[in-house]
Amino acid sequence: MNALVSVKYGYEPWQMAYDALKRVFVDDVKGKRILLKPNAGRKGKVRTAICTNPEVIRGVIRFLKEKEAGEILVGDGALWGVNVWEAMETAGISAVCQEEQVKPVNLDEAPPVVKQIAGGVMVEQLKFSSLAFEADMVISIPVIKTHMYTGATLSIKNMKGCLYKMEKTKLHRINKPCPDKNKGRCLDYGIADMATVLLPDYVVADGTVCMEGFGPSVGDPVNLDLVVAGKDPTATDYVCIQLMGMKHDAVPHVTLVQERMGTAGIHDIEVDPPDFIKYAKTFATADMTRLKNSYPNISVIEKGACSACSATIMAFIKTHGHKFDQEYHFTLATGKDLSEDDLARENLVLVGNCAGDCVKGSGSGFCKGCPPIGSGILAYMNRESEDDYEKAIR
Ligand code: SF4
Repeated sequence: MNALVSVKYGYEPWQMAYDALKRVFVDDVKGKRILLKPNAGRKGKVRTAICTNPEVIRGVIRFLKEKEAGEILVGDGALWGVNVWEAMETAGISAVCQEEQVKPVNLDEAPPVVKQIAGGVMVEQLKFSSLAFEADMVISIPVIKTHMYTGATLSIKNMKGCLYKMEKTKLHRINKPCPDKNKGRCLDYGIADMATVLLPDYVVADGTVCMEGFGPSVGDPVNLDLVVAGKDPTATDYVCIQLMGMKHDAVPHVTLVQERMGTAGIHDIEVDPPDFIKYAKTFATADMTRLKNSYPNISVIEKGACSACSATIMAFIKTHGHKFDQEYHFTLATGKDLSEDDLARENLVLVGNCAGDCVKGSGSGFCKGCPPIGSGILAYMNRESEDDYEKAIR
């Protein structure tokens, strides 16, 4: 039987989420404990596409309550330097939890649980928040976004927020040869490893306000005004990818997961409505070359860095590059393998703890974090003293 994916377009977000989920839902959840996993690991206001639209979450909660679900938890874990409680407050998610009387959670406040990855290609084990495994059901509620490293971030990649604290960066720090570069990068294979132990039971993808370009954090909003729901994660992600104007196989980790897990392929999907593609828009992808060309005064050295620090640097240049005088030339350097020549550069800004390790014991400063966030680099560069900087990032 084909995997059913429902696309609802053009009306109240909570009602679209409710209707889309209702169309595909087949389980009895009476009395069950359910974790709703939105995008809430970064701080961003409502309808900026940083975090999931709280009204979409509201629709899911209302549907589950009607099905007499037991405890409903709503939460995420965050990257270094982000407070999930603040992120959920800013995004309006805490308010919806309060109004609908469900429990907001910070996944990183629950104890960790280690899962072995049988036949892991990139990792042998991963540490998760235990909440993801204590729930009877997990529903992934991502914003539909392009992603500067993985092409797009949707329901499968959204589960990375369930990794415990700094374990979230582990898949970005893989130091192994890539099995087949034509099929994906190390990060894509790592996400596929993760999917062998944690895939969502349902997906409700928020396509009300999406993100194009430099997602997941510094892209531009795109109104699609729709919600997509499905039980099969690859089926749902494939539909979202097509709604972003891409070929279904443009996002390597989704295809790797599909092949490995035997979930729905592109020919195993039934979409309601069948002509859903009429709602698609062509999303801009992250054009790194154009970004670097726009700021010739900013040089970047990456040696032995993982994609998390690289992404932070791109996000920093995109958001803050224009704040610097074009006559001021400086170098952002990241990674654990910086050479003495690299470290001797003028106006050098070391980004991330690995880069900091390269100057350990020398008394030189660096922008802290694993990875840092873009505003952390700005705070570091604008600091008048180390104390100022410490206060700014606290
Ligand atoms: S500091 Fe940066 S390069 Fe080093 S492990 Fe952390 S994220 Fe990766």
